[in-house]
Amino acid sequence: MKIVSVIDEIRECVRSARRDGKRLGLVPTMGALHAGHGALIENAVRECGFVVVSIFVNPTQFGPNEDFSRYPRTFEQDTAYCQRLGVDAIFAPSADQMYPRCQQTWVEVEKLTDGLCGATRPGHFRGVTTVCAKLFNIVMPDIAYFGQKDAQQAIVIRRMVDDLNFPLTIRVCPIVREPDGLAMSSRNRYLSPDERRQAVCLYQALESCRQMFDQGCRHANELIELMCGLIERAGGQIEYVSIVDMETLEPVEIIDRRVLVALAVFIGSTRLIDNCLLDLRPPEKCV
Ligand code: AMP
Repeated sequence: MKIVSVIDEIRECVRSARRDGKRLGLVPTMGALHAGHGALIENAVRECGFVVVSIFVNPTQFGPNEDFSRYPRTFEQDTAYCQRLGVDAIFAPSADQMYPRCQQTWVEVEKLTDGLCGATRPGHFRGVTTVCAKLFNIVMPDIAYFGQKDAQQAIVIRRMVDDLNFPLTIRVCPIVREPDGLAMSSRNRYLSPDERRQAVCLYQALESCRQMFDQGCRHANELIELMCGLIERAGGQIEYVSIVDMETLEPVEIIDRRVLVALAVFIGSTRLIDNCLLDLRPPEKCV
């Protein structure tokens, strides 16, 4: 496995893989890898002859009061994990490699980024789409892998790829959870043991929502009320609990189509997100 931090070098690696006729997979991450990332990597290794995992804590997607400086950085464990999973190259650039000058060009997806996380994290998605556009142009993958955990992000990236005709496929893989249901996240490391116990309330709220939906409830506000009650009783501080159209991310009142149920909740000072799809068809497989 190659570990590369320079853009020209990773370009050379992928060029030679492509010369060998290999299909190229890219898994963009911010490191502090866990089994959620692992699932994306496994899918990539299964489908592609050459897999690049990028590890880059992208400064442009963090707000000024967010956790950029204390975001967990576990590079040695990450490289060992990637090696075990059969990754061909890690691309771990410095911020100077990715942003050598003051960036004047940004990629911005409109509308889809207005609500949910976009409402409270101004500039976040602009940072995400810009860094993904850069990574796509550097690695030129055939397939890029994202997690359903960051549902809005996956929808926004798909839209960018469509709107700007990037010649690649976006694969979105199901959420990987801890045994008690908590969605795996690098930020779970911030939780104290008590907070870790509380944090399961996001999953429990989503499960209760799904149950009520399965029993026939189609009123979004009733489902939202149920979830808010459960989260608040568990001590979570709600940023949003929303039920939105899967394509437009606009709130729905009556659930008569495929919807995304999305939550952002503070457990102590740690902001966690989670979501599920409500559909008449079985949800959450790789698409
Ligand atoms: P991050 O390192 O947090 O930027 O995440 C990198 C990629 O891994 C993103 O596409 C995430 O959606 C995905 N990911 C993170 N956590 C999970 C999880 N629990 N299950 C599935 N995918 C995940």
